[in-house]
Amino acid sequence: MKIYVDNAATTKMSQRAIQAMMPYLDGVYGNPSSLHTYGQEAAEALENAREAVAKAIGAEANEIYFTSGGTEADNQAILTGAILGERKGKKHIISSKFEHHAVLNTLKQLEKQGFTVTLLEVYENGLVRLEDVKQAIREDTGFVTIMMANNEIGTIQPIREIGALCRERGILFHTDAVQAVGHIPVDVKKLKVDLLSLSGHKFHGPKGVGALYVRKSVPLQKFITGGAQERGKRAGTENIPGIVAMAEALQESIENLSESQNHILSMRDRLIEKLREIPHSKVNGDLQYHLPGTVNMCFEGIEGESMLLLLDAKGIAASSGSACTSGSLDPSHVLLALGLPHEVAHGSLRLSLDAANTQEEVTYICEVLPEVVAYLRSISPVWEELEKGERKHVI
Ligand SMILES: *Cc1c(COP(=O)(O)O)cnc(C)c1O
Repeated sequence: MKIYVDNAATTKMSQRAIQAMMPYLDGVYGNPSSLHTYGQEAAEALENAREAVAKAIGAEANEIYFTSGGTEADNQAILTGAILGERKGKKHIISSKFEHHAVLNTLKQLEKQGFTVTLLEVYENGLVRLEDVKQAIREDTGFVTIMMANNEIGTIQPIREIGALCRERGILFHTDAVQAVGHIPVDVKKLKVDLLSLSGHKFHGPKGVGALYVRKSVPLQKFITGGAQERGKRAGTENIPGIVAMAEALQESIENLSESQNHILSMRDRLIEKLREIPHSKVNGDLQYHLPGTVNMCFEGIEGESMLLLLDAKGIAASSGSACTSGSLDPSHVLLALGLPHEVAHGSLRLSLDAANTQEEVTYICEVLPEVVAYLRSISPVWEELEKGERKHVI
């Protein structure tokens, strides 16, 4: 059996998205800036895609800017927020401890340039508290950026409440909604966000294409300079096949949202119920304010990396957290932000389900995973110490 449960890292492109993309790789390959028919057909496809993406998140077409993905959208949003704040003499930024690195590392860069950044706690349940945002706001706060759904543990933040607060205080607000768009309903007007990032490959579109929503009244700053594409705010010939396919994938995800949510939720609930029976294990993050498909667990006494390799050998493709931090042996900054001790954060596993997964696959995972954990514990010196009582159980 081959099971892919790493959909938070990336998703398989949908057939509809692939089909939508094909004509723009083959016949309609013009540059949308060209005046001839080839170019004009491409330009029309570009604007149709812009309309579709806008509609999917409750925005207007002229509020959508296409980018090379979620990372670029996050960078452009944050640098814009920082610059606009600075113009008003406000160089304090509020964010959270468990943002994606596309956000955290951009903020680090800004700190080197004289900005002050407050990273809010996310507590054991993996939720930012509105009260903490209120407390953190200072005279010189010019910008707030808080992710909508966390990529490692799946918790959903109170974006609507934070949006209302920021709007009331006249502070610019960005949300990295890369894990949310296409998976839960997202409406920029209801959420009162000024800037919002999304990425095609997290909802069955292609990699290397994303979008940034920018509320009409916000003057987006440009960082990639060159031609006048994207209304002068993001230069470079547009990735037409990618943009068209992303728009199609997004429409498809939204059309199927309620049906796929139910299916995914029922698989997730079964997984959690079964895997919780493994002794000294823990499900991470609040389960109410949570994406349907993401399950993050810790198992005491074992290494996440060894678990992943054994699961892979059994045909199960999962993750120990975010794809961006694997390869380093540091425990995930997200799990540490939840207050988990290093040794527990090391034994983490993320299973991220999708509508294409099946109940049979869930049954198989529920059979295999407890065996893998038991085996790894049987050869783990840490587990031996725990068993002998030389070390205390934390979970
Ligand atoms: C994947 C992801 C990103 C980065 O998006 P790319 O398109 O891969 O650059 C940013 N933020 C979150 C929360 C993500 O999950």
